Amino acid sequence: MTSRLTAREATHFREKLLRWYDENPRPLPWKSDKDPYKIWLSEIILQQTQVSQGLPYYLHFIEAYPTVRDLADASTDEVMKSWEGLGYYSRARNLHAAAKFIANERDGVFPDDYTGLLELKGVGPYTAAAIASFAYDLPHAVIDGNVYRVLSRYFGVYEAVDTTIGKKIITQLADQLISRDIPAAYNQAIMNFGALVCKPKAPVCHSCPLSNRCGAKADGSIDLLPIKSKRLIRKQRYFHYLIIIDGDNTYIEKRGVDDIWKSLYQFPILETSGVTPITSLQNWMPGYNLHLNKPKTELKQTLTHQEIHGLFYIVRDFNADTLPDSWVKKPISSLDTLAFPKMIRTFISDYF
Ligand code: SF4
Repeated sequence: MTSRLTAREATHFREKLLRWYDENPRPLPWKSDKDPYKIWLSEIILQQTQVSQGLPYYLHFIEAYPTVRDLADASTDEVMKSWEGLGYYSRARNLHAAAKFIANERDGVFPDDYTGLLELKGVGPYTAAAIASFAYDLPHAVIDGNVYRVLSRYFGVYEAVDTTIGKKIITQLADQLISRDIPAAYNQAIMNFGALVCKPKAPVCHSCPLSNRCGAKADGSIDLLPIKSKRLIRKQRYFHYLIIIDGDNTYIEKRGVDDIWKSLYQFPILETSGVTPITSLQNWMPGYNLHLNKPKTELKQTLTHQEIHGLFYIVRDFNADTLPDSWVKKPISSLDTLAFPKMIRTFISDYF
């Protein structure tokens, strides 16, 4: 196929899609608002997150930090606590950094064009296009997983969409299709359409307004598209957490490494790349006079590129004088006020 469309082809697709959107509106709290701060918050929260999960977080952020300056003035611990449970924590760190940048370097004024938006930490082409169209009515086409799927199926794109050429074809199609008059409605329409009609599995082709010209339907290749060249292989990581019980206290540390869950709290940790016998773990702690028994609990958390196996060891037999200074003693009752990764929060709720 060619990625160059005739005006007629583009108009047909756009009009059918917008008519479907008119008949199937999906009211969301931030959609009636043109405030770029609120739109930015919603877009960052909804990256990799379902609307039903993200909505309470969005409402909390708007209430706790009504303006970008309020967010900039908050402490890292506060922002991480507000984000706790939502996952992909680099989003929260970038959000906070970008808020500080806007407050301090731009006098609190939000960038109002695509290029300026791309300068914000954590804002890539997708989010910049979303904010540019939703807040400023600029004709930048959003391209997310929904858009890749709808366009590759409808236009019969058989190039893998995760290759340079595949991405280029989809981008060229999207740029020709976006409505110059109502870009925000168009962008929302195609994303909703991908989520509700042209779904990854079992798309609703029998009632699809685009079905009579859909390339994948004509070719019988709906299940094949979009094509991806790379199969995702998740790295397996084993996090061994030491739950040291000292009366009503335990020990925690802040995760500082440049890795997942940075700036969140955790129990003292040893990481391995496979299942490891307790004797080996014990040998990795020379000088720490503590004794390990088999894990009390094992939990698993799946992220996009990795699978985390959390093993929680209860330690009652130890000598506090031999523990490193970076392990901070805290009352168990205070753990609720700090931000932990979801897996650790689950353990805390179940165990304490
Ligand atoms: S006919 Fe089916 S595959 Fe084609 S655009 Fe509609 S829902 Fe998607």
